[in-house]
Amino acid sequence: MTFEDLGLRSEVLLSIKEMGFEIPTPIQEKAIPHLLTEDSDFVGLAQTGTGKTAAFGLPLLSKISGAKKLPQALIICPTRELCLQITNDINLYGKYLNVSCISVYGGVDIKKQITDVKKGTDIVVATPGRLMDLINRKVVLLHQIRYVVLDEADEMLNMGFKEDIDDILKFTPVEKNVWLFSATMPKEVASIAASYMDNPLELSIGAKNQGNENILHTYFVVYEKDRYPALKRLIDFHPEIYGLIFCRTKNETANVAQKLSRDGYNAEPLHGDLSQSMRNMVMDRFKKREVQLLVATDVAARGIDVDSISHVIHYNLPDDIENYTHRSGRTARAGKKGESLSLLTQKEVFKVKGIERQIHAEFQKGMIPNAAEICQIQLKKLVQKIKSTTIREKDIEPFLPETFEHFQGLSKEEVIKLFISAEFNRFIEYYERAGDLNAMGTGDKSSKPTRSREKGERRRDEHKTRFFMNLGKRDGLNVGGLLRTLCDATGLKSGNIGRIDIMASYSFFDTDREHVDRVLKKVNGAQFEGHQISVEVAAEAKGGAKKSMNKSRDQRGFGGRRSEKKFAPPSFNKRRR
Ligand code: AMP
Repeated sequence: MTFEDLGLRSEVLLSIKEMGFEIPTPIQEKAIPHLLTEDSDFVGLAQTGTGKTAAFGLPLLSKISGAKKLPQALIICPTRELCLQITNDINLYGKYLNVSCISVYGGVDIKKQITDVKKGTDIVVATPGRLMDLINRKVVLLHQIRYVVLDEADEMLNMGFKEDIDDILKFTPVEKNVWLFSATMPKEVASIAASYMDNPLELSIGAKNQGNENILHTYFVVYEKDRYPALKRLIDFHPEIYGLIFCRTKNETANVAQKLSRDGYNAEPLHGDLSQSMRNMVMDRFKKREVQLLVATDVAARGIDVDSISHVIHYNLPDDIENYTHRSGRTARAGKKGESLSLLTQKEVFKVKGIERQIHAEFQKGMIPNAAEICQIQLKKLVQKIKSTTIREKDIEPFLPETFEHFQGLSKEEVIKLFISAEFNRFIEYYERAGDLNAMGTGDKSSKPTRSREKGERRRDEHKTRFFMNLGKRDGLNVGGLLRTLCDATGLKSGNIGRIDIMASYSFFDTDREHVDRVLKKVNGAQFEGHQISVEVAAEAKGGAKKSMNKSRDQRGFGGRRSEKKFAPPSFNKRRR
C-alpha cells in the first residue's frame, strides 16, 4: 500500500514525500484510512518509534481547517521533548497547508507561550501540567476542540498525570473525538478509554502489550563491585555503539557519566538536578551524535525521541519493571534493530521472568566478553579505521624521506606490527590484568571466577584453536546453524568442534588445531542463509598475540606501562571534541 492509497490530501502527500516517507508503517496503514473517514474515538496500541505521530498527525491535518483562531485539535503528551518533536513533525507534514501548530510545555518561561497561544492557532501540543496552568489562566480555550490526541498515554499515567488529564478532558466539548495511543494497555489506560471514549475502534500492531520484536534482550550476571568495569566491556565490545545508559538515581547517573568521561569515553549525564538549559544542550549534542553515550535517569529520559540508538544499557534495572518497556523502546525505532542489555547481580536474576512476562519476549543470558574477544573487535576496528584513512599526499610529502629512513631495514609486516602496537598496547595491557567479570554460581565468591556455563554449552579446551566469525544472532545464527554450516563446509564432525559463543553480531568457535587450515580455506566465503561468512583465528587470551605484542614493545621500547588508574582503555571511544 502507498500513501496515495490512504486518501490523504495532496499537500500532505507532497510534504511526506519530501521527508522521504515512501510506504506507510503498519500503524499508519491501519489507522489513517479509519481516522480520515470515520468520526469516532480510537485506541492505537503501538510501540514508540512505529510512526504513531504521522498515524494521527496526517489525518488530523486533512480534517481541520486553517482558521488560526481557537484550537480545533489538542495533542497531549508526557514530556517536553516529545512535545517539541510532535510539533516539529506536524509543522513539517503541514508545510503546504495553511494550518498552524504550537507547543506548550513546562520548565520554561510561560510568557512567550501565552503570547503564542493568544496569536491564535489550530493545533496545540502540550504537556499536561503546563496546559492545566494555561487553562486556569484562561489563555488556552478549549470550547472549539474537535479532536483530542492522548499520546503515550501509559507514560503519562505512569508519571502521575491522571488527575490533570481528567481535568483537561472536562474542559473539552462533549462532541469531540478522542484518539489514544499507548505502547501498553495497563488497567489505568483502559479506564481512561472507558471513561472518556465512546465505543472506540481498537487497533494494535502486534499482540496487545507485545514488545518490539526488533529488540534483542540480553542480561549479564556480574558481582556488584564489577558493574562498572562490566559496563565498560560492553561498550568496548560494541565500538560503534550509540547508546543510552539507564541508572536508578540522579547520583548514580552523575557518577557513572563522570567515571566514563574520566576513562576517555564520550559520555554525558542527563538528570533532574541539571538546569533545563543544560539538559537541552546535552540532548541537542546527543541528537547530533556529538555525544556517543547518554547516561540518564528514567524521568529525564522520558520522551527521548532519537532514531538510531543502537543500544540501551540498564546499568541497574528500574525499580518499577513497567519502566523497562519504556527504556528499551528507545532503541529499535522505525523498523530498525536494537539491543537492550541489562547488568544484574545474582540476587536480581529472578526479575528477568517478571519482565519477560511484561514484554512478551524472552531474554537471553549473555557473557561479559573476555579480554581476547574485546581485543579482537578493537583490533578489527582499528585496522578498518587505518584502511579508510585519507592520505593527504601533498601535505605529508616533505616528511616522508626522513620517516622512511627511520624504518629502513624493517619489513612491511614489522612496520605494520609497530603501528598497530603503538595504538593497541595500552588496551591489551589493561585487559591482560582484568580477568573474567561473569559472576559464578550463587554464594561462592571466594574462588577465582570462571566463565559460567549454560545448559548444553560446549566446553572450552586450551588445546583447541579459537576462531572469530563475522555472523551472529542478528543474522539468524544459533549453535545448531553454526555447527551445520561448519560441518557442511569442512566435512568435519561436530565432535571436532569445541566451545561455541554466539554474540549479537559475531561468533567464536573452537576446533582441533590440525583443522585450522581446512576451516580457513573451506569456511571463508561459504554462505549462511544468504550471508557470506568470513572467519579468522581469534586472538588468544593467554600467550599468543599478547606475548608477541609485549615482546615487540620490550624489544623496541614502544609504549610505556601506565598506572591502571589513569588508563583510558579504548582509543576510538575517546572524546571527539
Ligand atoms: P514516531 O513513532 O512517530 O516517533 O516515528 C518514528 C520515526 O519514524 C520518526 O523519525 C519518523 O519521522 C519516522 N517515520 C514515520 N513514518 C515513516 C514512514 N512511513 N516512512 C519512513 N519513516 C517514517
